[in-house]
Amino acid sequence: MTITIDGKICSCEKGEKLLAVARRNRIPIPTLCHHESLPGQASCRVCIVEVVQQGRSTVTSACVYPVEEGIQVYTNSDRIRRERGMILALLHKRAPDSRLIADMCRIYGAPELNRVSVSLPGKCILCGLCVRACAELSVGAISTVNRGVTKEIATPYHEPSAVCVGCGSCASVCPTGAIEVTETADTRTIWDKTFPLVRCARCGAPIGTREELDHAARKAGVERETLCEHCRRRSMTDVLAAAYGD
Ligand code: SF4
Repeated sequence: MTITIDGKICSCEKGEKLLAVARRNRIPIPTLCHHESLPGQASCRVCIVEVVQQGRSTVTSACVYPVEEGIQVYTNSDRIRRERGMILALLHKRAPDSRLIADMCRIYGAPELNRVSVSLPGKCILCGLCVRACAELSVGAISTVNRGVTKEIATPYHEPSAVCVGCGSCASVCPTGAIEVTETADTRTIWDKTFPLVRCARCGAPIGTREELDHAARKAGVERETLCEHCRRRSMTDVLAAAYGD
């Protein structure tokens, strides 16, 4: 089937998400909380587009909208520019230290919201991707706490978590870099907890925290990994070469 995005006819499968169709056709739609591995978030609303179907126009989040035959989509209409600008201006109030959001506000012409006085320090937009990433790992070390303007993502009671494995997945999916991770030669610190780093038994490169490797090994029912990815592949080719006499 086909749909039209900004005047371009695009082929797609029924039910495919609009954002995926637009990206495949190189039509830019900005996102913050969308992550390929954790789709269906739709919390930041930066990806709003206008969809016209049978003469009716609606504004919807492209990341979760399943396409239907013949719809016409406008990613940058006056209405979308106005509404997206307002969404970004509010996100900037919530996360004034985020350089990314400040840049997006400039690019998309977000208005100054001088009358909105709530301005919290930090970079977190409360999209919840980090919480989902941690839950996907079956860890669940962080969650949303408090309500209203004091709502935030944290470990229980803001104490170093007993279950966090220091993998850094929460930080790597965060769109605004709100989660601080610091590494020395031997340690990684995240959520106020410091983890020892394990080094590759062959080349000495750091391969993760001990807790992270133990957790992955437990889940997979195997021994804790001792080699980095590069050396693992090399040792595999060594085994094959020995077996087949290369
Ligand atoms: S670093 Fe801790 S909180 Fe973050 S995803 Fe890994 S286990 Fe969860």
